[in-house]
Amino acid sequence: MPRSATPQTLSREITISGHGLHGNRPCTVRLVPVAAPSGLVFVHLPTGTEIPAKAALAGDLVLATTLVKDGVRLQTVEHLLSALMGLEVEHLRIEVDAEELPILDGSAAPWVEAILRAGSKSLEGRRRFLKITQPVEVRNGDRWIRVLPFDGFRLRYVIDFPVPALGRQSRELSLTPEKYRRELSAARTFCMEQEIDLMRARGLALGGSLDNAVVFGADGPLNESLRFEDEAVRHKMLDLVGDLALLGAPLLGLVEAHAAGHALHVALTQAILANPACWEWTEDAKPANVRRFFHPLVAQPA
Ligand SMILES: [Zn+2]
Repeated sequence: MPRSATPQTLSREITISGHGLHGNRPCTVRLVPVAAPSGLVFVHLPTGTEIPAKAALAGDLVLATTLVKDGVRLQTVEHLLSALMGLEVEHLRIEVDAEELPILDGSAAPWVEAILRAGSKSLEGRRRFLKITQPVEVRNGDRWIRVLPFDGFRLRYVIDFPVPALGRQSRELSLTPEKYRRELSAARTFCMEQEIDLMRARGLALGGSLDNAVVFGADGPLNESLRFEDEAVRHKMLDLVGDLALLGAPLLGLVEAHAAGHALHVALTQAILANPACWEWTEDAKPANVRRFFHPLVAQPA
């Protein structure tokens, strides 16, 4: 079950800088706590454009999730959104000074560590969940994604690549902040070695390297080691958590994905929002009767 019953923001500001994966340009991100529930709202500082993390603003979805508003693009928002949704920090102002968020190490772990160091703070009111009451499914050939009613937030993901080094991987997980941190947050983005030339020719992955991505060659990963044996499917789940942020609220449901990616993840959020008969708002998600995740983390017994 979800862990917190109240809306959460951060206890203090966080600033993180790095380079974009696709454009390879520098970017500084400032996470600013809010005083009242607002959702997750990006602010593109050069233009002052406010861009809420909403499915209606999703733009280009090739190899990253991009938000577009008034001609302003924000690329590769999914790993930060994943860290925030995974840790249930759902109300924040996210100031960025460029058009692509830093890739950092290719996972959500650096965001998660910074968020946990800052700590979270409860806001007034109750946390509001989007609770699935009827299945919603989106298909594209053999690839599909669907959400089913479920009393919690659970993901089931299958990937099947025609590359021996990757092959078929599947994982299923009911998410809590602790499980998100431990099971998903450190999984890095990945690609096939043979895709790199094509991506670069299209102006993508210009900032990619073995420091921020796992590259699979014919005989296995070119990186020295993997962080998980099934790091690829875990990263897909990390991406899915981030893309589901575009619902604008935490989800109560079971999401099953088969060979999906950003385009299908986002299409599912749009299909859900377009079918209000398939879900309802609820504040009635029982908070788990367990120790709080944030501040006690440093002092937790082993
Ligand atoms: Zn990703």
